[in-house]
Amino acid sequence: MNITIQEIAQAVGSHHESTQSITGVEFDSRKIKEGDLFVPLAGARDGHEFIEQAIANGAVASFWSWAAEKAPEGIEIIPVSDPLKAMQELAQYYLKKVGADVVAVTGSNGKTTTKDLTASVLAQGYKTYKTQGNYNNNIGMPYTILHMPQDTEKIVLEMGMDHANEITELSLLAQPKVAAITMIGEAHIENLGSREGIAKAKMEIADGLLPDGLLIVPNNEPLLEPLVAPLSQKIKTFGIEQGDISAQQIIEEKQQTTFIVEGESFTIPLPGKYNVTNALIAYAIGQFFELSLSEIRRGLATVTVTQNRTEWLTAGNGAAILSDVYNANPTAMGLVLDTVASLPAAGRKLAVLADMLELGVDSPLMHASMSEHISSDIFSMIFLYGKEMQALKDALAQKYPDLPVYYTEENKEQLIAAVIAEIQPDDTIVLKGSNSMGLIEVVERLQEMK
Ligand code: ATP
Ligand code: MG
Repeated sequence: MNITIQEIAQAVGSHHESTQSITGVEFDSRKIKEGDLFVPLAGARDGHEFIEQAIANGAVASFWSWAAEKAPEGIEIIPVSDPLKAMQELAQYYLKKVGADVVAVTGSNGKTTTKDLTASVLAQGYKTYKTQGNYNNNIGMPYTILHMPQDTEKIVLEMGMDHANEITELSLLAQPKVAAITMIGEAHIENLGSREGIAKAKMEIADGLLPDGLLIVPNNEPLLEPLVAPLSQKIKTFGIEQGDISAQQIIEEKQQTTFIVEGESFTIPLPGKYNVTNALIAYAIGQFFELSLSEIRRGLATVTVTQNRTEWLTAGNGAAILSDVYNANPTAMGLVLDTVASLPAAGRKLAVLADMLELGVDSPLMHASMSEHISSDIFSMIFLYGKEMQALKDALAQKYPDLPVYYTEENKEQLIAAVIAEIQPDDTIVLKGSNSMGLIEVVERLQEMK
């Protein structure tokens, strides 16, 4: 990054004369390196309190909004009214200066995976930068932008939200050339009121979409159709065996999935049909930016996902573990159960399912609906954990009186003991639940077992 302190001050509507350049931007004083700009954000403790540490680590400049306290010596101070807003304005300025095309990805599930697939495709033909990890909010996104190298040609940004209007803000800042919605699920329904509310919130990604841009949306999503219709930008839909870009002849294996698009075969090193739809978005974006089929193919085949949320591991006794324990909502849980159901496996199939949180008043109904993705022909035993899972326990008891179901409301140790007592070396076991249910502990204990 090569940008002068004077330029920064101007970009954020402040004033400070200095032709010195900064080398980077950090809001965590511990991450500051020689030559960086420090952004004191409000957190559990105010970032301003850490300015001495930022200086000690080599910060040359800092935003400053404290009126009551004088800024320390030994650092160039850029007075602003709100450091977060200033960081966002600086990100917008830097994005324009670099001139990279922005690709924005949102959706209830699959944002990070789609972002990684897309960046892997674009990197075959362009200098590409992407959101690191899950930095997808009004702090993480500008931070990502401010960390892209100066010669970046395409930047792929994940946009996340908890509430209405958050994506609008992100989209207006980034002004994407391409925007994609992976899917409309149920995440954050408590805040957004309904699936209509969720669809509207995701569509905010088009609020900053450039007039000559492209919007990519799932095919046959009735909630999106009326929202997409009035737009003047190009629209492409995707889906399994449907839509403008459709995947055919999907072959699912444990570690990879192969499919045909427009007569050409592609492989992704990821399990699950839902990852095929994520890949279709990356394909559409590769095409939009005029990459060749072989470049797109190579990008999809060689992707490394930032956080492998759906991960194959091995239990201490040799059983196959499909761990997907970092988030859960009904769509994602259903899809993972379907994925396991359709995989070839030598031994039995087991599932450990924990509560999906933040689902609002329909939570029991949504938990119970998971019984549609469980068949006693496929699964030999189901372990349920958490208060909300009571509803699924009841639904399963009705539908499959003979299917063994273990249930505990809150005793994780007993759950672990029950799973370990049951599991055989040639079993396949899938685990899914909301992150805070802590199923990762069950996964770890399975890995450690003898
Ligand atoms: P977060 O909101 O935590 O940032 P995300 O939207 O970035 O999540 P990913 O990290 O890509 O999503 O995937 C999380 C999980 O969602 C996966 O492990 C999988 O279970 C599920 N998932 C991924 N893609 C899809 C999809 N297209 N449709 C439904 N579920 C999906
Ligand atoms: Mg994510």
